[in-house]
Formats: sequence, C-alpha cells, structure tokens
Amino acid sequence: MLKVGLTGGIGSGKSTVSSALAAYGAAVVDADAIAREVVEPGTPGLAAVVAEFGEEVLAPDGGLDRPRLGEVVFADGDRLAALNAIVHPLVARRSAELMEEAVASGVEVVVYDVPLLVENGLGPLYDVVVVVDAPDGVRVERVAENRGVPREQVRARIRAQADRDARLAAADLVVDNSGTPEELRERVARLWEDLLARVRRGDR
Ligand code: ATP
Repeated sequence: MLKVGLTGGIGSGKSTVSSALAAYGAAVVDADAIAREVVEPGTPGLAAVVAEFGEEVLAPDGGLDRPRLGEVVFADGDRLAALNAIVHPLVARRSAELMEEAVASGVEVVVYDVPLLVENGLGPLYDVVVVVDAPDGVRVERVAENRGVPREQVRARIRAQADRDARLAAADLVVDNSGTPEELRERVARLWEDLLARVRRGDR
C-alpha cells in the first residue's frame, strides 16, 4: 500500500484534491480532523490537556477553547512543548489505527492530508509527498472570495506557513492548481494514474 502525504499552503486546494482522490478509491486521513478528535469532550486527551492547563482552557460547552489555549501556548515555547507532548502521541496512535483499518480494507493508496507536513518535517513518514501549489495571490483571492476571510488575514497565515520554495523542495510530485477547477480535475486524474503506477511498480 502506498502512503501519500498531501500538503499545500492555505487555500492551495488540498481538500479539493483529497476529495477527488477519495472518489478514485483512495482512503483519506485528515490530520486536522484527528487532532480535533483526540481532544473532544469526554476523551482522555481532553482530560490530560485540562490537567496540564487548567479549566480556563475549556469553553462553556465543555469543549476545548482553542483560541484561549492558543494564547497560552503561542506565548511560551515550554507550554507549547507540553501541549505537543500530550497531543502528538494521541494523534500518532489514532493515525496508526486508521492506517491498520485501511490496510485491512485492501485499499492500495492512503492519502494523508497534512497541512503542516513541511513545517513539521514529516516528509519521511510517507512514500510520496504531493504538494498542491498555487501562487500566493491566487490563494488569497480564493480564500477571501469563497470563505469571506479578510485578505490581510489570509496573507498573515501565508507568512506564518512554510514558503512556496520550501514546500516545493520537499515535494516528490507537484499538482499545479493555478488554473481552473477543470484543469485541476485533469491534473488529479494524472496524479491518480501516477500513484497507481507506483503501486504496480511496487514502490510500496
Ligand atoms: P485550507 O488549507 O484553507 O483548508 P485547502 O488547501 O484545503 O485550504 P481548498 O479548500 O480545497 O483548499 O480550496 C480553497 C478554496 O478555493 C475552496 O473554496 C475551493 O473551492 C477553491 N478552489 C480550489 N481550487 C480552485 C480552482 N482551481 N479554481 C477556483 N477555485 C478553487
């Protein structure tokens, strides 16, 4: 089974590409969804976070108050390390479980949608790293237009993420999403063929 790490900056088109790959038959694992799941209300993960950071990181509904927790950890590297020490092993375990399920179901390609793959140096975990790429200006427009996020906020997110060159340097394959949705569909069709060719060659 081929393990694909899919990444790209904000608004690059990762979700669009991973949905298309799922339609072709890939199993898709969403890293952000797992990171939320392991600290849902009632989980040991949330209990561990509250034990470390106190009840003040809880929202009135009993869930994690992410903006509040963000304020605490991003002001202090040690606190961020403490949070990561709780969350990362839980995410790793859940990812391994989902991986085993994918193996058991017989799929040939598992796609991990990992927004911060390059930032966190996670490339070696995958057989193939696929980067979805579009110029910064195009991404700003798409996110602003489609999600109503102020342009300056999108630009700030882009500045906080890995730059385009760093991402492209980490890529085994690049999906150019600077064009139309139709062009993207054609590129994903070619990507799928390429991934299946790798499976047949026995790359993994
Ligand atoms: P994020 O990192 O913010 O979650 P993402 O990388 O998953 O974003 P998508 O959600 O797939 O990106 O795409 C961002 C927005 O741009 C969506 O509204 C999507 O419909 C739109 N979009 C994606 N590709 C194109 C395209 N080629 N042309 C026009 N709009 C596009």
